[in-house]
Amino acid sequence: MSGPTIRRTTVCVVGGGPAGAMLGLLLARSGVAVVALEKHDDFHRDFRGDTVHPATLQVLDELGLVDRFHELPHQKVTTIGVVQEGRRIDIADFSRLRIAYPYMAFVPQWDFLDLITGEAARHPTYRLSMGTEAVGVLRSADGRVSGVRARGPDGETEVHCALVVAADGRHSALRADVGARPRLIGRSLDVAFFRISRRSTDPDEGICVRVGNGKVFGATDRGSYWQMSYETVRGGFARVRREGLDAFRADLAALVPFLADRVHELRSLDELSILEARIDRLDRWHRPGLLFIGDAAHAMSPVAGFGVNLAVQDAVAAANALTAPLLRTQRTGVPFDDTRLAAVRRRRLLATVLSQGLQRGTQRFGIDTTVKEARQPPAPRLFERFGPAQLLMSRVIGLGFRPEHVRTPPAPDQEKDAS
Ligand SMILES: Cc1cc2nc3c(=O)[nH]c(=O)nc-3n(C[C@H](O)[C@H](O)[C@H](O)COP(=O)(O)OP(=O)(O)OC[C@H]3O[C@@H](n4cnc5c(N)ncnc54)[C@H](O)[C@@H]3O)c2cc1C
Repeated sequence: MSGPTIRRTTVCVVGGGPAGAMLGLLLARSGVAVVALEKHDDFHRDFRGDTVHPATLQVLDELGLVDRFHELPHQKVTTIGVVQEGRRIDIADFSRLRIAYPYMAFVPQWDFLDLITGEAARHPTYRLSMGTEAVGVLRSADGRVSGVRARGPDGETEVHCALVVAADGRHSALRADVGARPRLIGRSLDVAFFRISRRSTDPDEGICVRVGNGKVFGATDRGSYWQMSYETVRGGFARVRREGLDAFRADLAALVPFLADRVHELRSLDELSILEARIDRLDRWHRPGLLFIGDAAHAMSPVAGFGVNLAVQDAVAAANALTAPLLRTQRTGVPFDDTRLAAVRRRRLLATVLSQGLQRGTQRFGIDTTVKEARQPPAPRLFERFGPAQLLMSRVIGLGFRPEHVRTPPAPDQEKDAS
């Protein structure tokens, strides 16, 4: 029987979500050899977050990709609102920010990931293996992580490298393999997604959350349809099932009256995609030879659409901190200096803690108050009474707590190509 295929590289990035795809591109652009592994055969999965925030648009601009991004089918949304007792309160209005891209763009995530990985593949040091699942780490004699064991279309593979980056999401297999356990922050949510058609006579809502009658529905304008979400406490969907389809449709019609004539488009509760959303965080984001970024380090819930942006920001921070030492290792063969890994968590921790705190607070004082106590959450009214709150929230959602910028140069031969 033949053994596993052996591959050697400088960095193995596990996971082709926003964090892994962006990191692979940034490293390869600077000439670092990267093997990227993605367990699915393509990026086609619905409801994994189609939001691209102003801070991510700025990163795309710095990479010279923003024009190609805007050629993708997308919608621009400038406001996020909450409708309570029939009245809309805008909690964020990106057009108030003096920035290059004062809007959130909605793009099918597979298009976004295709753009990033397609650009990465133009660099000679980048190899992406789709349909290849990392199953565990390899270790050297001193216990340091020295690579990845993976299963792919051609059987077993071992990727030997100077650094493994686990960007394999909130159920990270590598995290489990090294025995790293994230701390749960607050309670989990159940979120159900579905679509309802959009008509030209519908209001211009952007992103709007509608609360009342103990229910929370989100509506996002996706051009030809509304991407709807229904948020409830963990396990709360059992009650929806007990009450049945007609009760769910009636709740929807009551909270989003302009959809009342179309609620029958939802033919069965089985059409809902129900996902658990959790917020958690690792205390330590690295081990010798291994770094966790994105949801693998800190899982995000859908609230405020922070997760994709935070994953991209982690990737930029990791590339800024690690590209030079990785290139040194690649060129000279000196061992990679693991002490550099702590810099990534140091740089990203505060922004992560604050973003997760905001998500947790929104869940506690928004969703829990509505669902469990059947009360109107008081927080949205603050945005009416206190003017600067809207500006602050627009900054926080749009740019995050610590926006990152691309500081790594393209590899010299690529600069020559471009000139
Ligand atoms: C229900 C729900 C809705 C959400 N909606 C939004 C939203 O609208 N906007 C937003 O910004 N955030 C949203 N989030 C959060 C967002 O999805 C994450 O924060 C974000 O995707 C994190 O990116 P990532 O690259 O770290 O991980 P992921 O996007 O999870 O990507 C991980 C990748 O790794 C791959 N992978 C996993 N295991 C392996 C393995 N063993 N080997 C190889 N590959 C592997 C996966 O297939 C996946 O492609 C939502 C989260 C949930 C749960």
